[in-house]
Amino acid sequence: MTGALDPAWQEMDCNLALGRARPQFARILEKALGGGDLNFSDGVLLANAAGDDLLALVKTADEIRRRTIGDVLTYVVNRNLNFTNICIVGCSFCGFSRGPRARDAYFHSTEDLLAKSREAVLAGATELCIQGGLPKNLNGGYYAGLLRDIRREFPQLHLHAYSPMEISYGVEKTGLSLTDHLLSLKEAGLGSIPGTAAEILDDAVRIELSPNKLTAVRWVEIIRAAHAQGIPSTSTMMYGHTETPEHWVRHMLLLRDVQRETGGFTEFVPLGFIHTKTRLYKKGGARAGASSDEDLIVHALARLLLNADIPNVQVSWVKLGFPGALACLQAGANDFSGTLMEESISKAAGADYGESVTPGELRAMIRSIGRTPAERYTTYGIRRIYADPEGHEVLPVERMPLLVGRAASAAY
Ligand code: SF4
Repeated sequence: MTGALDPAWQEMDCNLALGRARPQFARILEKALGGGDLNFSDGVLLANAAGDDLLALVKTADEIRRRTIGDVLTYVVNRNLNFTNICIVGCSFCGFSRGPRARDAYFHSTEDLLAKSREAVLAGATELCIQGGLPKNLNGGYYAGLLRDIRREFPQLHLHAYSPMEISYGVEKTGLSLTDHLLSLKEAGLGSIPGTAAEILDDAVRIELSPNKLTAVRWVEIIRAAHAQGIPSTSTMMYGHTETPEHWVRHMLLLRDVQRETGGFTEFVPLGFIHTKTRLYKKGGARAGASSDEDLIVHALARLLLNADIPNVQVSWVKLGFPGALACLQAGANDFSGTLMEESISKAAGADYGESVTPGELRAMIRSIGRTPAERYTTYGIRRIYADPEGHEVLPVERMPLLVGRAASAAY
């Protein structure tokens, strides 16, 4: 996982690592350590890090994470619900979608989705993450209807649902304005939206990957509109395909600008491209996912560029695998994502890191890197903290440290 890095990089002191970096590289890291805003050219230099510079980058990101968040490492107990894999959009990087007549196409009934929700509640989940493909004949009312049906039976669950692409499709199918559609979803129980479908927020890249997908401007418009209605969202970036390090930096700075305006992003989630079973990779249109060094760079860069605005940087263990996720959690990230209970999107593209993890397994891995596990809610309030090394004691809520940064506390 650690590529060209010194095998003992996790134990190395940050100052020692800084001393080994090139002077112009170390100057930017010191600016970040001092709380300074990094600009595009700073970001590009960092994004191209190698050797001792890379070591200094990840150690600095880890130090800034420690100063900002502390040593508590969070996760959420959640379940994915992918209600259908039928989709008309045809993104070339997607291994999940199917045509309506495919042998393995599905559209789960509401009864099945309620049964899966019940299982999630019994397993202690606080969140459902609901996303699906875009079937041609979908009734626009389906989106709000599903939320309402789940909400009626399980009002305790936070419904984290519908990417900006699905929101855009819902607008098209219902004929409502964007704001009215968002308000109807909120009234039906929507708690927050996944900031997926962002890929790289640059239309030249988007057209290569998926010409039928919403534009970068439309993605931002939908996110802004959701935040304006008090609906927070995550923010994401898919990397490791056709993009360059310059795209990473521009993408993160765009998210930073949006966050400064709305305060509605709860976290940033880098999503490595899973290539194996995708049309994009098979036709030779992309590289075979990110290298392990690129995984570290992207998570560390996010910490340095976004720290003051989006303080929560999440690893996707489904994309990185557990060793990779733990490495990135020592390179600037502070959130382990969720239990998922069922994962089909990355698996369909060729990921083989599993579909589910228990809270106990997450806590054991968190302890293995010397950090304190805590279960969080979707918007980063802390539900339980496991401060006792044996994991037996659960501190009551009033003794818990406040982890919610400016991002999530501004409006929610
Ligand atoms: S990424 Fe989403 S929109 Fe694109 S083809 Fe797959 S399911 Fe459809």
